[in-house]
Amino acid sequence: MNSLSLIPGCRIRHVAPQGQNAFVVAVEGRAPHGRCPACRHISASVHSAYLRHPADLPSFGREIRLRVHVRRFYCRNQTCPKQTFTEPLPRLLRPYARRTRRLAKAQARIGIALGGEPGARLLGHLAMPTRADTVLRLVRDQPLPAQKPPHIVGVDDWAMKKGRTYGSILVDLERRKPIQLLPDRTASTFSAWLRRHPAVEIIARDRSSEYAKGAATASKAIQVADRWHRLLNARQMVERWLAKAHVRLRRLPLVEKPPVALGQRARAYPRTRAEQAASADSHARWQALYEEVRQRHARGEKLLAISRTMGLARGTVRKFAQADSFPGRAVRQPGPRILDPDLSHLNARLAAGSENATALWRGPQDLGCAGSPKQVYRWMAERRTTPAKTTARKWRSPNPRRSAAGTPLPSPKQLAWLLVRPPTALDATEAAVLARVQQDPEAATVADLVQRFCTLFRHCCCERQTRNSEQTSIKTLTAWIAEARSSGIQAVETFAAGVEQDGLASGKRRALQ
Ligand SMILES: [Zn+2]
Repeated sequence: MNSLSLIPGCRIRHVAPQGQNAFVVAVEGRAPHGRCPACRHISASVHSAYLRHPADLPSFGREIRLRVHVRRFYCRNQTCPKQTFTEPLPRLLRPYARRTRRLAKAQARIGIALGGEPGARLLGHLAMPTRADTVLRLVRDQPLPAQKPPHIVGVDDWAMKKGRTYGSILVDLERRKPIQLLPDRTASTFSAWLRRHPAVEIIARDRSSEYAKGAATASKAIQVADRWHRLLNARQMVERWLAKAHVRLRRLPLVEKPPVALGQRARAYPRTRAEQAASADSHARWQALYEEVRQRHARGEKLLAISRTMGLARGTVRKFAQADSFPGRAVRQPGPRILDPDLSHLNARLAAGSENATALWRGPQDLGCAGSPKQVYRWMAERRTTPAKTTARKWRSPNPRRSAAGTPLPSPKQLAWLLVRPPTALDATEAAVLARVQQDPEAATVADLVQRFCTLFRHCCCERQTRNSEQTSIKTLTAWIAEARSSGIQAVETFAAGVEQDGLASGKRRALQ
């Protein structure tokens, strides 16, 4: 066994079984002398010896525990501060380690492939048992693989705790790999990293001013505000504007009544008293919170501070602070219905003036209608112009709150998506909602500007640009910025100013990348 050099730097003295699943291998150092780690003098005078019991790689499916006979030598060098030193076994063991180097490496490899808990479970089966925490510690102790210096990096922020602490993630965009996490998202941290990586030539970033500042101070790299963030910011801008304008837009009349209107599905049946009371309670509670947020905001409190004191989500606080009146709840978008195949027939009968649900149901019944009478009643209830004969008197008068608030409209978030999507991608219902919103002149301006902005960026995203088309795009963008900055709509103007600032910071040529 010793001729095979199974244990690096050691000689095997004997092997003995320990219980059913393990062997104990007694070993001792091969060298007749040791080298003092302080003065490098060689000494063969043994002072004493002791035993270490590190675990080693398994053998024959059994765990291996070494019993290493470690000698302690005198250092005979008079000038050396050490009087004795321990026999070093550098290839086998680290000082104080409880496992051999090769076992630690094997366990760490499994940890890298599987992670802590699953790795620990597998290691138990492979006769190298250890705990999940140890697997993770061994993974962390492994040296990192050598990295090639990055040339094109992407930087963005990420939340360690959303709304509280943010770090930055750096991605090598050529190799598509994350390369570093920074502890915060400040300009100074980012610029310090850039100074350590002078090979960076292009930086793709979001539109945050901190990264722009950090990149400008530390590097001559070309800065690129990436498309995804531009389109995201455009939609967020529309959403902010809509939060303010939503109440006004809700009062706009319908353009045409689509077969199943988006966000316009009224309740076919009155709610129970308990349901109504619960809903009114919830409404009052939110209304009170809304008013408190508005007051605090008017007093000059920061949104983040309000969110912390009142225990509300930051998004909710921002929405409340920006809305001129209490924003209603988003209306759920209905999915496909069982009556869809019969809609043409039902719509024709309705247009002919028939509002009798039972009669309507009998019609498609003969044609093989899949719906039940109740479904036709509900469909009818959303569309009747006068109450049915069977409607109880107390439900006949119109709901005053509903008529004051106008006809329901999708939430600002849903509407913002309608405004930024290509018009060709909208179905008839969505197009009708959009047309209704665009009756408002300011909404029409916002919709037009944001559509052109998105088209410009989508267009240059899917085509490889020649120098000529690039020039054209820059001209279009410059014209767009000028128009948006004089639109008289605050949200749009701020956004356009930001886009322009980015263009100046990064060179107009790159503004469209
Ligand atoms: Zn020495």
